[in-house]
Amino acid sequence: MGLIVQKYGGTSVGNAERIRKVAARLLATQRSGHNVVAVISAMAGVTDGLIKLAREMSAEPSEREMDALLATGEQSASALTAMAVNALGGKAVSLSGAAAGIVTDGVHTKAKISHISPRQINELLAEDYIVIVAGFQGQSPDGAITTLGRGGSDLTAIALAAALKADDCQIFTDVDGVFSCDPRVVPEASKIDEIAYDELLEMAGAGAKVMQSRAVEFAKKFGVGFEVRSSLKDASGTKARATPAHMEDVVVRGISLERNQAKVTICGVPDRPGCAGMIFTAISGANLSVDMIVQNASSTGTTDLSFTLPQDDFALAEKILRPLVTEVGASDLTAKTGVAKLSVVGIGMRSHAGVASRLFACLGEAGVNIQLISTSEIKIAVVIDEAEIERAAQATHAAFGLAQRRPVPPAASA
Ligand code: ADP
Ligand code: ASP
Ligand code: MG
Repeated sequence: MGLIVQKYGGTSVGNAERIRKVAARLLATQRSGHNVVAVISAMAGVTDGLIKLAREMSAEPSEREMDALLATGEQSASALTAMAVNALGGKAVSLSGAAAGIVTDGVHTKAKISHISPRQINELLAEDYIVIVAGFQGQSPDGAITTLGRGGSDLTAIALAAALKADDCQIFTDVDGVFSCDPRVVPEASKIDEIAYDELLEMAGAGAKVMQSRAVEFAKKFGVGFEVRSSLKDASGTKARATPAHMEDVVVRGISLERNQAKVTICGVPDRPGCAGMIFTAISGANLSVDMIVQNASSTGTTDLSFTLPQDDFALAEKILRPLVTEVGASDLTAKTGVAKLSVVGIGMRSHAGVASRLFACLGEAGVNIQLISTSEIKIAVVIDEAEIERAAQATHAAFGLAQRRPVPPAASA
C-alpha cells in the first residue's frame, strides 16, 4: 500500500458530472489499496471570471485581496469534490492550502512555498480519509492567504508529493499527456511517453502550459517523479524523470509557443559598463520578468538592446523605461506588441548539430520572418508575428518529423 497524490485541473472538474467522475476515480484508487491525497483546481473559467470581477471593482486591486479572492475558486471546487466522494459512500474532507500546512513567503500572487507541515493530512490519512487539498494557495507567515502563480495547483501537487514522500504523483488534465506540441495547434502532435525534467522545464517555460514551469522546477530539485495523464481516459500518459532512457537519441523533443508577447528595443545604448545593469535593475525592481535578451555588437560606440516580456506587462515596463532612456544616454525606445515566441526543445541538441539551420530554413520556406533569436544548450527560440505562430508551429513540427507515427497498414496479400 502506497500514497498517491492526484491533481485534477480546471477542465477535469469543470462541471458536476466531471466532479463525480473525479470522485469515482479517487475512490477507485483508494479501494485498490492506496492512501489518496487529491489536489483540486478551480472549475474551468472560475479564476478568469474572478479576475474580471475584481477589475470591475478596481483598476488596480490590491494583490493581498486578489489572493483572498482567487483562492476561493480552488476552495469551492475542493469542497464540491469532497461532497461527491461522500455521496458515493466514501470518506473525504477538503482542506484549504493553509489548513493543509502549506506555508509560503509573503509575495502575493506569486508566492513561493517555504515549507509544508503535513501533520493534519497525515492524521486524516491514518483515519482512512481521502484528503482533498485546494490547489494554488498557501498561507504567509503573518496568516494571509497567498497564491502560487497561474497554473499553481501543479506546484501544490508536486510539493505535497515531496513533503508526504508519496509513492506516485499523477497530474490529471484535459489532454493525454505532454505532446510534441500543443495538440490544439498541431493536431498530429505525438504524445511523449517519457520526458526529462530539463526538457519539460524548457517547454513549460516557453509556453507549453500543460505543466506550470515552477512545478517542474520543484520536481527536478526534489526528484519528484510524476505523470501527466488524461482525466477523461484510463490510459498512461507522460512520465517526467531525471534521465529517461535514450534521452540523447531524440534531437528535438517538442515545440512550444507563447502568444501575447511584446518586443522592446532600447536603441543607441552607450557601449560602456553599467548601462544594461541600470536598465534591468529597474525592470526587476518592478517584479517584471523578461526573456530573450539580445544585444547587438557595437561598431559605433552604441548598441541596441532588445528583450521580450508578456504584453500585459508592457505598459508598466514602458513607464519605467522611458525616463531611463534619457538617463543612460540611449537614443530611443521602440516596441512591438502582437508578437509570439516559438521554441524548439531537446536534450539531444547538446550532441547533434544542425537544429538551428533546419529551423531557420523551415521558417524561411514558410515565409515567416524572424525578429529575434536566442539559444540555450537545449533550446532555440525565435520571436515572430503572432498572426503567423500556428502556421510556423505546424511547419516546424513537420520539418523535425515529430508527427505521430501512424501504424503502417499491412501489405495487401498477392
Ligand atoms: P489544467 O486545467 O488541467 O491544469 P491546462 O489548461 O493548464 O490544464 O493545461 C493543459 C493544456 O495545455 C492543454 O489543453 C493543451 O492545449 C495545452 N498544451 C500546450 N502545450 C502542450 C503540450 N506540449 N502538450 C500537451 N498540452 C499542451
Ligand atoms: N486556478 C488557477 C489558475 O487558473 C490555478 C490552477 O488552475 O492551477 O491559474
Ligand atoms: Mg494548468
